[in-house]
Amino acid sequence: MSISKSPDQIDQLLIKAETGNNLKREEIIELLALPISYTPQLLEAADRVRKEQVGDEIFLRGIIEFSNTCERNCLYCGLRKSNANLSRYRMSEDEIIATANEIKKSGVPTVVLQSGEDSFFDTEMICRLIERIRRETDLVITLSIGEKSYADYKSFQQAGANRYLLKHETADAEIYKYLRPGCKWEDRLQSLKWIKGLGFETGTGNIVGLPGQTLETLADDLLVMKLLNADMLGIGPFIAHPDTPLAGIDHDDLEMTLRVLAVARLLTRNTNIPATTALGTLHPQGRLLALQAGANVVMPDFTPEIYKSRYDIYPGRTDAGSAVEIIHKLEKDFQSIGRTLQYSIGHRLVKTDHSILH
Ligand code: SAH
Ligand code: SF4
Repeated sequence: MSISKSPDQIDQLLIKAETGNNLKREEIIELLALPISYTPQLLEAADRVRKEQVGDEIFLRGIIEFSNTCERNCLYCGLRKSNANLSRYRMSEDEIIATANEIKKSGVPTVVLQSGEDSFFDTEMICRLIERIRRETDLVITLSIGEKSYADYKSFQQAGANRYLLKHETADAEIYKYLRPGCKWEDRLQSLKWIKGLGFETGTGNIVGLPGQTLETLADDLLVMKLLNADMLGIGPFIAHPDTPLAGIDHDDLEMTLRVLAVARLLTRNTNIPATTALGTLHPQGRLLALQAGANVVMPDFTPEIYKSRYDIYPGRTDAGSAVEIIHKLEKDFQSIGRTLQYSIGHRLVKTDHSILH
């Protein structure tokens, strides 16, 4: 896409974005399409807004990937049910609780329970897990276990879950349908509205670099995040998995992912935005770059070693070492960019506006 704007007009657009004036779809597209020489200015603007809105602390979320079994067949994901090369696991309830205790011991205040869509873990089991984790560790609980019914979300909340992550993946309904066979974009959106309406801190987000995606699609992704008034935004690059239909569609989306992340910060102001593992996988400095482009959260992986490498969503994801070792290593990196780790809960500091949900 060519930009016909003069340098003065580009500067005006960057100032408008930084000062929090609502951006139109066209303006978001222009930001994503800025000439490469403007990337530092865009990322630095997002970094300043991050500092002003959510400060210099980096919040930690400990993640437990408790099952790599999945009944879905998303074309981009290594956990898809048709991938016969993957050795499947399910952690036992006691293993999950023991891992939650590890997280608690390390001082990380919140746990993210993530899995494939695995109905073996039925509503009752998930509720029991939530209740035990709350009772035995008092960790703040985030669920990332896929699409469920309204009644399920409600039960999870009543059991004590506080947050729910459900990335919308792409705002293009056609691409969504193609990449997630049997799934509908409207259902995803409905789920997100239910989750938000029930009062969960709600996470959504997208994958950058999916086949068929355009700058228009990415702008729509950003508008979905804004419209939902999501509290957490997961923005990661697509990484092709060799055992999926999208094998070999590899390209380096670091630059565009950082741009999307930066615009997400400029647009949504005080949300919690992780420096995703996928960015760290794509580039050795990926997470640090994200933290200097608007991100303020990291999610160390506490999944026990015996399972970790089998949670093979995309290749090359695991950091070497235990989660505690990884946190120590990250801490040094973060100090080098003037940031500190924050062992507090890190709720989004905002009054939720539910008006868009009705
Ligand atoms: N099953 C749940 C949660 C586990 S998948 C769900 O689908 O919501 C977690 C995230 O992994 C997904 O939201 C998706 O954005 C991401 N993901 C899957 N395959 C990927 C790939 N090849 N590259 C980058 N991200 C991927
Ligand atoms: Fe399953 Fe989630 Fe992977 Fe889709 S993205 S195949 S639902 S784990």
